Amino acid sequence: MNVSVVLFTSDLRLHDHPALRAAAEARQVVPLFVRDRGVADTGFAVPNRLAFLADCLRDLDAGLRERGGRLVLRSGDVVDEVCKVAAETDADEVHMAADVSDFARRREQRLRRALEAEGRRLHVHDTVTTAVAPGAVTPASSDHFAVFTPYYRQWSGQQLRAPLAAPRTVRVPGGVGSEELPERSAVVGLSPGLATGGEVEGRKVLTRWLRNGIAEYEELHDALAADSTSHLSPHLHFGTLSTVELVHRAGQLAGPGAEAFVRQLAWRDFHRQVLAARPAAAGADYRTKHDRWRSEHTAREDIAAWKEGRTGYPLIDAAMRQLRHEGWMHNRGRLLTASFLTKTLYVDWRVGARYFLDLLVDGDVANNQLNWQWMAGTGTDSRPNRVLNPLTQAKRYDQDGAYVRRWVPELAELDGPSVHEPWKLKGLDRAAVGDYPDPIVELADGLARFRRGRSGE
Ligand code: FAD
Repeated sequence: MNVSVVLFTSDLRLHDHPALRAAAEARQVVPLFVRDRGVADTGFAVPNRLAFLADCLRDLDAGLRERGGRLVLRSGDVVDEVCKVAAETDADEVHMAADVSDFARRREQRLRRALEAEGRRLHVHDTVTTAVAPGAVTPASSDHFAVFTPYYRQWSGQQLRAPLAAPRTVRVPGGVGSEELPERSAVVGLSPGLATGGEVEGRKVLTRWLRNGIAEYEELHDALAADSTSHLSPHLHFGTLSTVELVHRAGQLAGPGAEAFVRQLAWRDFHRQVLAARPAAAGADYRTKHDRWRSEHTAREDIAAWKEGRTGYPLIDAAMRQLRHEGWMHNRGRLLTASFLTKTLYVDWRVGARYFLDLLVDGDVANNQLNWQWMAGTGTDSRPNRVLNPLTQAKRYDQDGAYVRRWVPELAELDGPSVHEPWKLKGLDRAAVGDYPDPIVELADGLARFRRGRSGE
């Protein structure tokens, strides 16, 4: 075989990349990334992810150059661009990773048809973006698991493929034109504390995590101020790290921390197999509860307060401000803010999911939309009516208020219980919280409204 193209999508790495390894068996390979107009049209190309992507593309190019190759970048319709590059280089085959969203599935079908019409073949590789391929394990009576625990049991019993080394050399045919790679510094409107992208950075974060963090993960993963989770989510989203490799490496360490971490990686695969089987769940209730949600029109001020971190509930506001500042939020914060919006404010989960996707550097259709539905009670959660109380949650996960003081400067001078309930302060002490607002809703009123709305009374 003479020339193959490898189309990178959300798998921007050289290590453990089955599609790249298969393509590199040809005499020459074209490593291609297409800035897809279709992605821009979905509103998915937002500053934080564009900046992280710019880092990833530059890093991928540098890694390819070290191996004698380079990255080819094109912009336009992905199918047109791949076909053009394949024709220019007379490539026999195109290799790419399987993916789960409706968008990705349609892209794959269109690409297959267009390539086949020109006598070329598309090879789609499983387990590039997941450890276990969607559909590889199923319950007896359905095409996907709707409950995590039995899924996890079967997932854990799967024999994963061995991680692959990065190719030693990549020979790219001469004369293939490429656009200039984007630069992070050219992206406007990104979060000031945004993480750095790229495989080299991802592998550094991973090494630190395996050495210093994972052992305490079981104990500390919910402690908001300790911030002791891996922060690997953007690297998993952009595929600068492989889930298969992570499961192998964490598995070698054993212990409760490693086990708890691998379980979270299984959650990621779980949501992906749900979305693969039910693509409509990206926008529609997976299990409708016939909610009469409040919307952007009927709850405009509440939604604005939630987005700005000015609800008057310090833990909620701290998490929303972390999201703005870092383009990332602690999982406990995501659970709390999602519960607050959908249950306490009784606002449609899609409003919150959209806002998260506008900011999250790891913003991911499967993980975001299905976790939002989990918290809204329209997804796979078996306790759809549970409501997280920000005050009791504060006692458990931010007992001394350090997380709130970090993100809500108006409350930085407060300690003890008052940092979580500043409205209880009187007189001069009250003045110490500046213009920090009073709660926009009483928790009991919010709960009653949710119960009425959900039961349809
Ligand atoms: P760690 O705790 O170190 O976990 C390791 C990895 O496991 C994560 O990087 C992630 O890939 C996976 N993982 C962890 N928790 C979950 C989970 N609940 N569901 C699925 N996978 C999980 N995660 C995203 O990657 N993208 C999103 O857009 C996203 N949106 C979310 C929205 C809401 C409302 C909620 C409740 C959760 C969302 N999550 C999302 C899941 C989770 O919050 C993040 O993956 C996690 O906080 C990322 O931090 P970490 O890498 O330090 O996680």
